[in-house]
Amino acid sequence: MLIDHLSRQLREREAHSLRRSRRIVELPCAPRVSVSGNAHAARPMRAFCSNDYLGLANHPELRAALAEGACRWGVGSGASHLISGHTRAHAALEDDLADFLARCIPQARAIEFCSGYMANLALLTALGDADTTIFADRLNHASLIDGGLLSKATMRRYAHGRTDVLADQLARCTTPIRLIVTDAVFSMDGDLAPLPELLALAERFDAWLIVDDAHGFGVLGEQGRGTLAHFGLRSERLICMGTLGKAAGVAGAFVVAHETIVDWLVQAARTYVYTTASPPALAHTLRASLRLVRGEEGERRRARLRDLVRLLRTRLGALIADRPELGWRLGESSTAIQPVIVGGNEATLSLSAALEARGLWVPAIRPPTVPVGSARLRITLSAAHDEDDVASLVDGLEHAAKELP
Ligand SMILES: *Cc1c(COP(=O)(O)O)cnc(C)c1O
Repeated sequence: MLIDHLSRQLREREAHSLRRSRRIVELPCAPRVSVSGNAHAARPMRAFCSNDYLGLANHPELRAALAEGACRWGVGSGASHLISGHTRAHAALEDDLADFLARCIPQARAIEFCSGYMANLALLTALGDADTTIFADRLNHASLIDGGLLSKATMRRYAHGRTDVLADQLARCTTPIRLIVTDAVFSMDGDLAPLPELLALAERFDAWLIVDDAHGFGVLGEQGRGTLAHFGLRSERLICMGTLGKAAGVAGAFVVAHETIVDWLVQAARTYVYTTASPPALAHTLRASLRLVRGEEGERRRARLRDLVRLLRTRLGALIADRPELGWRLGESSTAIQPVIVGGNEATLSLSAALEARGLWVPAIRPPTVPVGSARLRITLSAAHDEDDVASLVDGLEHAAKELP
């Protein structure tokens, strides 16, 4: 019965071009990989899909730091943070993170999580009690949506970026606690949330602003401090979540916020309390990653990434202007996430398949990850790409466009 039930749903997904499958990557994360599919043996591809924006995931210094961390701390933490799993390596990482963001958040402390998904569940369930309303941008990441649904708070969603709609909702709100929650860089569009306006609303309506900086941390702002620094924001009302498996190249996530908020998370966040602490060797590696991100090498890599983004946008913009009949649209993004919005699921899948046949790996993103009718290629760039990668991608798209019916 269960098997029939699931098989039916799988066939339905197949029929709507919504069935997903995994590829097997045979090499470390990098722009050039070797990929095996269901039907074919491993073959070389240029990848435009990782969130390893600075190209640190296979950096020799970080490989060495992980090996050193393992020699010093072993492999597992052995227990949750509140039992015996909270090592000096974790504590030192948290101090580094709080110090890094101290310019944006006064009286800040940091808490590290095993993943960004868990950090967002922690934040929204631990802060979102029955006295709370959560105001969320409609295009927020799934983990923020799930956190809101699991919480006891009232959920209000506002149309993407519409601070006027949010202001109305805040004005009508009757709960004593108000949390505004937003992606800083939207993960499927690459555009920035209007954080200065959102913070002004938080101040005006006595609300707090939770910012998910998964795609800004390490990439934007001075020293890669993130989107808060990019906008020059500083406030006690800011709660910053960032992930450490994207630009930082390792794994995990953090929340930096007023010390009382972090204290409360340690007490009440179930995805913190009831899970084994991440391996201390990872915390050790992350401290080395933060040094790279903050330093000259990080600066160089961010500059290179910006140059590649500019080059890609110029060349893609020209291609799309040449072929208006394709109906493609380049997203309004200045970040490493560059969506080409195609529309239909099938058209997007065929385009992605045509690119794949040319050795270019650009994932098709379909509903429910994005709204119906806005299926897209989600191109991500990394500082580890070069001009030749960008040129091959644009050439590949140009040829794929010619082959389309
Ligand atoms: C990736 C991502 C997360 C989840 O982080 P993980 O560490 O991968 O679990 C949360 N929010 C946004 C916006 C993301 O892009």
